[in-house]
Amino acid sequence: MTIDRRDFLQAIAGGVLISSSGVGDSAATAPPAQTASWYDRPMRWAQLAFVENDPGNYDREFWLDYFRRIHADAACLSAGGCVAFYPTRIPLHYRSKWLGNRDTFGDLLKGCRGLGMNVIARTDAHACHQDVCDAHPDWIMVNAKGEKVRHWSDRDFWVTCALGPYNFEFMTSVHREIMTLYGVDGIFTNRWAGSGMCYCIHCRENFRAFSGMDLPRTNDPQNPARREYIVWRQKRLFELWKAWDSAIQSINPNSSFIPNAGGGALSSLDMKTIGARSPILFADRQGRSGLMPPWINGKNAKEYRAALGRKPIAGIFSVGLEDRYRWKDSVQNGNEIRMWVVDGIAHNFRPWFTKFNAKPFDRRWLPVVEELYKWHYENERYLRNEASLARVAIVYSQQTAAYYGGEQARAKVENPSLGFYQAMVEGRIPFEMVHDELLDAEYLAPFRTLVLPNIAALSEKQCGQIRQYVRGGGNLVATWETSLYDEWGVRREDFGLAPLFGTSFAGRTEGPMQNSYLTLEKDPSTGRYHPLLGGLEDATRIINGVNRVIVKPAVAGSYSPLVVVPTYPDLPMEEVFPRPDKTKEAGVFIREFGRGRVMYFPWDVARTFWDVLNVDHGKLLQNAVLWATNEEPPVKVEGVGVVDLSIWTQKNSMTVHLVNLTNPMMMKGPVREIIPAPRQKVRVRVPGRRRIVKVHLLVGKSAVPFRQGNDAIEMEVPSVGLHEVIAIDFAA
Ligand SMILES: [Zn+2]
Repeated sequence: MTIDRRDFLQAIAGGVLISSSGVGDSAATAPPAQTASWYDRPMRWAQLAFVENDPGNYDREFWLDYFRRIHADAACLSAGGCVAFYPTRIPLHYRSKWLGNRDTFGDLLKGCRGLGMNVIARTDAHACHQDVCDAHPDWIMVNAKGEKVRHWSDRDFWVTCALGPYNFEFMTSVHREIMTLYGVDGIFTNRWAGSGMCYCIHCRENFRAFSGMDLPRTNDPQNPARREYIVWRQKRLFELWKAWDSAIQSINPNSSFIPNAGGGALSSLDMKTIGARSPILFADRQGRSGLMPPWINGKNAKEYRAALGRKPIAGIFSVGLEDRYRWKDSVQNGNEIRMWVVDGIAHNFRPWFTKFNAKPFDRRWLPVVEELYKWHYENERYLRNEASLARVAIVYSQQTAAYYGGEQARAKVENPSLGFYQAMVEGRIPFEMVHDELLDAEYLAPFRTLVLPNIAALSEKQCGQIRQYVRGGGNLVATWETSLYDEWGVRREDFGLAPLFGTSFAGRTEGPMQNSYLTLEKDPSTGRYHPLLGGLEDATRIINGVNRVIVKPAVAGSYSPLVVVPTYPDLPMEEVFPRPDKTKEAGVFIREFGRGRVMYFPWDVARTFWDVLNVDHGKLLQNAVLWATNEEPPVKVEGVGVVDLSIWTQKNSMTVHLVNLTNPMMMKGPVREIIPAPRQKVRVRVPGRRRIVKVHLLVGKSAVPFRQGNDAIEMEVPSVGLHEVIAIDFAA
């Protein structure tokens, strides 16, 4: 199945084009999605991942009753791969020791179908038993020292090679057998893409045939063999995907292979290809741990939608703790589950709970998921979103992470993106994410402003697309080394976007810098501060970032609202004074091209914001986006608290989601209690001046008085617990 381009564009544009002169309309007139298949039907997923001793020992009726109660309309059930839960006839396909004459998978499948659920089968491809290793030693993963790899957690297992005959032959026959016996709606394979670099005979020979080289022994993306490997591995996995898809579809054309794959800049398989191939996708981000904010789940949804458009996506959440010690049989406290799931729903994930082990030790999660799913079921018509109305898009770039970031991709590529994300959430600015390989005019049409947080590696073609976007009236905010490297991570002589930035690379970078600042400057022609400095007028100067690019402006002496104070000693204290107290170096470059506005920060403002969370940097990022966007936002919510916003249209309604993240545990879970946010004043622009018949709250379950003006309505939400959805019904 390939992506339906029209369908995709509808999804991101929503067919709702808002111009700066007014609000266009087409949400209502846009034709419905072409979905002859089943994929778009299910809204709530249930996954029971069997453990080997579940057959004969778990309570099937309990689960079927639970699925019915929570209105789950699709299930993912464990079938085979490393352990088979059905009577397989494939040699070396290991049956659960508890299976006996049973068909545990088939029995539960039958029960789910009886409830009208769609069912997909789960397989796992990453591990096998000793007999497989004895019969086919070449199916096993080999490490850099040439040793076969035992499973790191369960010593009875061997780790398999993902790119050789184990997957291409053995797992293909497993998938064919499951499809022949059960005709399931899809096969979802876990850990199918390998467990790291494999040096087995097949990988060595196939890589040599592809590249003429030996497998790399370094992770440096500038090493020629490593670079070829990144390309070859993806090619091989996409071939495997195709092989499994054709085996499956030769038996059931309405079914497909669904990889457990995908993600943001740090994911290793190209999302553009995944988005084009996959009719549906599931994001396996089961929960948070460490210093992870709850909005990460919404970010996952945005990254998946950037590549899949309007195709359905589900967010897999675990009911247990997701920590590095992997307490797989644990239960997360209820409010933590709620916060994670609700932020995903607000950004268009369909919920999918996963439970390993069908004999639950701790049942405290059951009523939490039941409550979430029942609410979801009752409000389903307001959750079948057609389009986001956000006008700002943050670009993410897998090639920047792979070839420029390399082993530092998290620090240099993901953290700038997280910083910008946090600033937009704090600023209550609704936004989407965009994949850097999908930057042609049609894909960018819904957006007024494109944000490039250190998108360092961009091809000539991509730079051309961005230039065209600005020429057409689009706006740009970019930071740090954006476009200073080509798509392979090789540094250019100058920024690919130098003509837009109004400045050129002066040949060197500086950092990490200690104790550097930026002075705030008034525009000599007006005697006033630029809107970039809104809220900072009394500051005189603010802290600088930690890394910067030394640049030379295209036009010397032009006004910059920020001027660099170079780094100076921070010890001994007697020596802590600036010298000189400022330079002539601009801290930001601001330009206008016809209707397009560009703001470029030659330093790591978004990365430093994520690192230090200084409020002044957050303000700069918000002001930059507001100035660039230069129009009334689609939704404005005023009040106290940290609120993650999204705005959507459905068939005959629109919704605004407010996810209240105000919480002492926001930046490190797990959340204990929910702290309600007080009254919020809301103004929503209404596409096409549609007449509104009713405004109501889907969580508060009450109607809301509203005032309708020409192209917007205003109302107040008295209080937001964790989540509120303002549903706005259009006149028919
Ligand atoms: Zn291998």
